[in-house]
Amino acid sequence: MARIGVFVCHCGSNIANTVDVEQVADIAGQAPDVVFSTDYMFMCSEPGQNLIQEAIREHNLDRVVVAACSPTMHFRTFSGAIQRAGLNPYMLEMANIREQCSWVHADKAVGTDKSVDIVTMAVGKTRWFEPLFPQEIGVTRRALVIGGGIAGIQAALDIADSGVEVVLVERSPSIGGKMAQLDKTFPTLDCSGCILTPRMTEVVQHSNITLHTWSEVQEVRGFVGNFEVDILHKPRYVDATLCTGCGECLARCPWQKIPSEFDEGMGTRPAIYRPFPQAVPNVPVIDAEQCVAIKSLVEDPEREKPKCGVCLKFCPRDAIDFRQQPTVTTEEFGAIVLANGYSLFDPTAYGEYGYGRYPDVITSIQMERLMNAAGPTDGEVRRPSDGKHPRSIVFLACVGSRDERMGRPYCSKICCMYTAKHAIMLKEHDPDVQSYVFYIDVRAGGKGYEEFVRRAQEEYGTCYLRGRVSKVYPEGNHLVVMGEDTLMGMPVRVEADLVVLATGVQPQPDAGDVARILGISYDSYGFINESHPKLNPVESNTAGIFLAGSTIGPKDIPESVSQASAAAAKVLGLLSQPSLLGEAMTALVDRSRCAGCFACEDICPYQAIERVTLGYGRQAAEVNEGLCKGCGLCVSACLGKVITLRGFSDQALLEELNVLLLEPESA
Ligand SMILES: Cc1cc2nc3c(=O)[nH]c(=O)nc-3n(C[C@H](O)[C@H](O)[C@H](O)COP(=O)(O)OP(=O)(O)OC[C@H]3O[C@@H](n4cnc5c(N)ncnc54)[C@H](O)[C@@H]3O)c2cc1C
Repeated sequence: MARIGVFVCHCGSNIANTVDVEQVADIAGQAPDVVFSTDYMFMCSEPGQNLIQEAIREHNLDRVVVAACSPTMHFRTFSGAIQRAGLNPYMLEMANIREQCSWVHADKAVGTDKSVDIVTMAVGKTRWFEPLFPQEIGVTRRALVIGGGIAGIQAALDIADSGVEVVLVERSPSIGGKMAQLDKTFPTLDCSGCILTPRMTEVVQHSNITLHTWSEVQEVRGFVGNFEVDILHKPRYVDATLCTGCGECLARCPWQKIPSEFDEGMGTRPAIYRPFPQAVPNVPVIDAEQCVAIKSLVEDPEREKPKCGVCLKFCPRDAIDFRQQPTVTTEEFGAIVLANGYSLFDPTAYGEYGYGRYPDVITSIQMERLMNAAGPTDGEVRRPSDGKHPRSIVFLACVGSRDERMGRPYCSKICCMYTAKHAIMLKEHDPDVQSYVFYIDVRAGGKGYEEFVRRAQEEYGTCYLRGRVSKVYPEGNHLVVMGEDTLMGMPVRVEADLVVLATGVQPQPDAGDVARILGISYDSYGFINESHPKLNPVESNTAGIFLAGSTIGPKDIPESVSQASAAAAKVLGLLSQPSLLGEAMTALVDRSRCAGCFACEDICPYQAIERVTLGYGRQAAEVNEGLCKGCGLCVSACLGKVITLRGFSDQALLEELNVLLLEPESA
């Protein structure tokens, strides 16, 4: 006979306001096999856990029901508590009377009745519990970081500095991310390149870091502690082992007028290029779509010599290789950090602002490139249309942020700050500049941020106008910005030499694909979900995969860096363990009865079903317990009913129903 203890939590007033917890504990105490039942104010508190442990010892309990919140919140807390009292941690059932009862009912009688049902059903289920024992899994002591922006760089350095080997995979030709494109950084206005480049160099020189730029993760197999990852290395057409980065090829390339991605189309680059002078690694890449030599070889692979080939001729190290092919390598890792960053909203969606039609309407990231001394105009801010210095500059905030119409109702968090930064910088570049900012609200929540925006207004004379802009149109050799000042309650017309659109932050266009490759979830916009936004903000919902930076949502540099260090700490915590305990609530196939239809294989979202060959060549399914997450889909899909889920036996589930449907009087 089982000896069950029931512990009903008040959760302060969260449960007790809508549920008569004493009554629930009394009724549960009368259920079969319950030998102890009580209630307590905060069961998850230390005294609450001690109460459970003492009751286990005193009443010789072998099963425990905690009626409180969702198991996703506190299963680990209570299973740890009962384990410390000598029970198997899986001899616990949590009856969720908070999220599934008190929070959704207002009437105390209804809440109490429902709680009684939930608790007595849990008691019935618990009777069929058996101890479970998770598998021990080995750990590969290597980490993969995906994305070489500031977040990925910081995570890689922190992990590597602790003596763990790191592979950093970056899909563009250089690490640095968006921070490499910035001029100065708010709120201290220190030069972005000056603080970033030393870290980029540290990455490439670190003995524990292997850097793969121009590479992408293609497939991820395995599970926490044991990931197997296919990495695609795109052809650079330059042999990195020979290239010294002398730059001769860049200067000699006859095709110099290709719009530069790094300069956001404000400047040009050759067909063989290095995205920016401080790029890491300092190895150029050939743009295969623009290079005449490569195109000629694609058209006619048999031809002996490519057309053009000037770079080949002038390379002192013979490093050019027009026939390079993509390669794929497979590597093993114990943990992964995803730091693939963000992209920016395409402002052509706002036709009324004229972006793409009027050359003097630009985006904020283009402004960064114009202000940058290493940028296309050597740091001189000039109008794209005629190269003149603009004097009247209008900034439009929230372009693709806080706008339901554009499917972007969220705040991008950084635009108010970088707009204030631009207004300050422009005035420093040219004291005759007058800046205007059309805004909805100024959001400057950060250390020294509010003061920074004030400086832009009071010290630098920036004119802030609260309201949206309805139209931008050309008139003579300037632009007219028509808007509304909602504080004054009147329309506003500003003549501008340059209009700057503060485009919002959005996920990378392929964020969904990356999430699918990694088996992690993302929200309705495409930002990656944290496993718990407050308590596990750098963990994904797949064990062993951690998150850093703006892949989760809009973030500035300090926030991205601190998150990266937090993710690194989590990785190190994981990889410092010699072995891990796997999931105990996994599926189990009765191979002797398995007909080998593999319906389970098709439905399993974790690729945990493997095929094994039994005697006489018969095929059967087997569960890889390292991969199985215990979701139970295979159990319901199994036509022969030969798969069971540990902790969820048919008897236990039927007993739950029996309590509810057949034996209401037992409650
Ligand atoms: C105009 C503007 C001005 C700004 N000014 C400031 C400022 O002054 N101060 C401040 O604190 N913040 C500023 N920011 C914000 C700053 O850019 C971000 O906080 C920072 O870049 C976030 O870093 P990250 O590493 O998360 O992302 P990113 O910088 O986006 O880096 C992500 C990296 O991952 C790579 N990647 C993407 N997908 C993959 C993939 N599938 N595989 C491999 N690699 C991949 C990308 O190529 C990139 O290198 C500004 C932003 C803008 C737009």
